[in-house]
Amino acid sequence: MLPWIVRRTRLPLLSWRCLDCPSKSATTGKGRFRANANGKLLDVWLLVRCVSCDRTSKLPVHERATVRSIDPALLDGYHANDPKLVAATLLDPLFLRRHGLALDWHGAWELDALPVGLDEAWPWQVAVDFEDPVPVRPDRLIAQGLGCSRSEVPRRIKSDISLRRPRTLGFTFIAMARGSAG
Ligand SMILES: [Zn+2]
Repeated sequence: MLPWIVRRTRLPLLSWRCLDCPSKSATTGKGRFRANANGKLLDVWLLVRCVSCDRTSKLPVHERATVRSIDPALLDGYHANDPKLVAATLLDPLFLRRHGLALDWHGAWELDALPVGLDEAWPWQVAVDFEDPVPVRPDRLIAQGLGCSRSEVPRRIKSDISLRRPRTLGFTFIAMARGSAG
């Protein structure tokens, strides 16, 4: 099995309608939270910034939560702007759904496909693994990994998965040498 790995190279942008300018994109930048305690109640926001005009907005992560209900380690992470916690918050499907947000992964991920020796016998058995939940169309991914056109992909590979439907779950396929498939 040849391992191919999909991983993010940075955090994705957010689809975001700016209130001050026509931009439709926001970034978390380096990633910052803001926490505000009011008595025993706590609000935590993730800060996002318009990529065009820098207007900052706050996305609620916790609203009026009792301080005791939040894991102290988590609370420390919010105060320290822990990059892992920023990523986990931004990539949380529930968080995105709650705010009606979509992620823009364009240019934010890479395919790590180790170069294969020329003597590697065809057909190749490839296992694609997702280190981060980057939704990619398998045919695009495979075309990139094999260095061929997308239209060539269905002729060159065997797999049970839908090639056109973006997915974030690992899969395997068998690839034939160029020109050898019928
Ligand atoms: Zn703006």
